[in-house]
Amino acid sequence: MAEECSHNCSECSENCGSREPQSFLEKPNELSKVKKVIGIVSGKGGVGKSLVTSLLAVIMERRGYNTAILDADITGPSIPKAFGINQKVEGTDTALFPAKSKMGTQIISTNMLLEKETDPVIWRGPVIAGVVKQFWTDVIWTDVDYMFVDMPPGTGDVPLTVFQSLPIDAVVVVSSPQKLVKMVVQKAINMAKMMKIPVLGLVENMSYFECPDCHKKHSIFGDSHIEDFAKEEGIEAVSKIPIDEKLSVACDTGMIELFDGDWIDNLADKIEKL
Ligand code: ADP
Repeated sequence: MAEECSHNCSECSENCGSREPQSFLEKPNELSKVKKVIGIVSGKGGVGKSLVTSLLAVIMERRGYNTAILDADITGPSIPKAFGINQKVEGTDTALFPAKSKMGTQIISTNMLLEKETDPVIWRGPVIAGVVKQFWTDVIWTDVDYMFVDMPPGTGDVPLTVFQSLPIDAVVVVSSPQKLVKMVVQKAINMAKMMKIPVLGLVENMSYFECPDCHKKHSIFGDSHIEDFAKEEGIEAVSKIPIDEKLSVACDTGMIELFDGDWIDNLADKIEKL
């Protein structure tokens, strides 16, 4: 501490132990109103993070809230397709407007910036991180009760930027039953803990397959140990989503808002109580 401490860090250049940690939080657009921000994270890609993001937004919209999805998975954006959104982003010189799904979820994604949805995003890390920040600072989000952020997979530069720049209230962690996935999911959980962001729940996607004829449940990717894992990590809410062809068809055909299932309603209850 400086010898004569004024207790006002903004007036002092001393880098002492009493200095408040610097905030990297970005300001939203002045016309935006967003009440709660929930990040959906996974240690690796392809485990169903975008699916869970979409399902949570749909459930909360069905419960009467205004929802939004900020697709921060810049190099693998799949949200617009799941909601059947093909339009390009619209805006003025100073702001961008999100697209609206059929049920009213506000959505922004890199796919809406690309000429063709098959165009690859070949941008370096800092550019990608900048785009995510702009989705928060330059987009006008109108009266959003719950914003869901489809985070980039892993624990690299871009997820770190999202954690630091957006006011994330809590995260939901998505995993699948394989052992390898558990190891990388642990990294994502540890990252959230290090950023002091509460982990609201754990979703085991592709948990089992239920035979449509005999209704027997088969553990295609091995037995689930998710309850034990959640207990070890002190995470209360656990949800399991089966492998269901109807879900992948709904994602592929832009019909995710019509999904039928109560697998993650327990998580939605927790989000409502945030
Ligand atoms: P991530 O966001 O983790 O990369 P996605 O949510 O995009 O993963 O899912 C990857 C693919 O797997 C998508 O085509 C999706 O439709 C499909 N998928 C995900 N979860 C399920 C499920 N439970 N049943 C059937 N298909 C699924």
